[in-house]
Amino acid sequence: MKIAFIGLGNMGGGMAANLVKAGHQVSAFDLSEEALARAEENGCRTFRTVPDALAGAEAVVTMLPNGGIVKAVYTADVIAKAPAGALFLDCSTIDLATAREVAELAEEAGYHMVDAPVSGGIAAANGGTLTFMVGGSDAAFEKAKVVLEPMAKAVIHAGAIGSGQVAKMCNNMLLAIHMIGTCEALALAEKAGLDPQKFYEISSKSTGYNWSLNDYTPAPGIGAKSPADNDYQGGFASALMLKDLRLAMTGAQTAGATVPLGEHATKIYEAFVEAGNDGRDFGAIFTTL
Ligand code: NAD
Repeated sequence: MKIAFIGLGNMGGGMAANLVKAGHQVSAFDLSEEALARAEENGCRTFRTVPDALAGAEAVVTMLPNGGIVKAVYTADVIAKAPAGALFLDCSTIDLATAREVAELAEEAGYHMVDAPVSGGIAAANGGTLTFMVGGSDAAFEKAKVVLEPMAKAVIHAGAIGSGQVAKMCNNMLLAIHMIGTCEALALAEKAGLDPQKFYEISSKSTGYNWSLNDYTPAPGIGAKSPADNDYQGGFASALMLKDLRLAMTGAQTAGATVPLGEHATKIYEAFVEAGNDGRDFGAIFTTL
């Protein structure tokens, strides 16, 4: 397929490269020259304007920082300038209202669109092992699957348009909450006189087991290998977790959902990021306890 790919940053760069490896012809656009140079090395054709990258595209994939940019890129260029019949796939993590609004504008202009945010970080983007949670019609999902599979370990149809973003915000709110809880339990175990490694061995096989404890243990030298063993470098930046929590809080407000622990987790990450920890892995909350 001929695929236009817009947004070749930490995530998009590796994703576009995997589409090339799968035999697709990828036309890439990014505002950053550095990102374009890397895309070129990875076998993409690179362009200096969005309309040039869109020429002949059967699918358009976007992987952009936020909802404002996604809306601007779609309304300025993608909608109307993409060839008729092209499928739009926005893989960015953005607010639900913008995701639905942009999809509606695309549908009005005669295009099908899916929201397809991902779980998995830069390593999964590079390795083609992302989990995609897809919102859109059955027909759009079937077409989207073909585009997403070379970048994925799983492609799951979440429901109607916007459902992918709902799944993503709920998943990451839960992730923040169990990460903070795991950090608190590890710190309490140690302070109360229990070897934290013993606590890991016991709780990871007891009812306290969860991904943060079992697979991403946030205490250095304890349990599973994680960014904690590398001074919290790499991994999932606290600033990105805060972004996702804020999206979840906006989503909860709009939906009228009560999320007291989500609110508390947001405050904790806000304070952590404001204290200068934006680039540290989100498990570094452990160091504040
Ligand atoms: P990034 O900042 O590394 O990349 C974004 C890219 O978009 C940059 O190369 C930037 O130059 C480009 N860009 C910005 N405005 C543009 C425009 N108007 N036109 C074209 N290109 C433009 O971000 P990332 O880490 O790749 O994240 C992308 C998305 O994926 C975000 O929505 C993020 O929340 C989500 N996400 C990230 C991770 C992660 O671990 N990094 C994990 C899951 C989801």
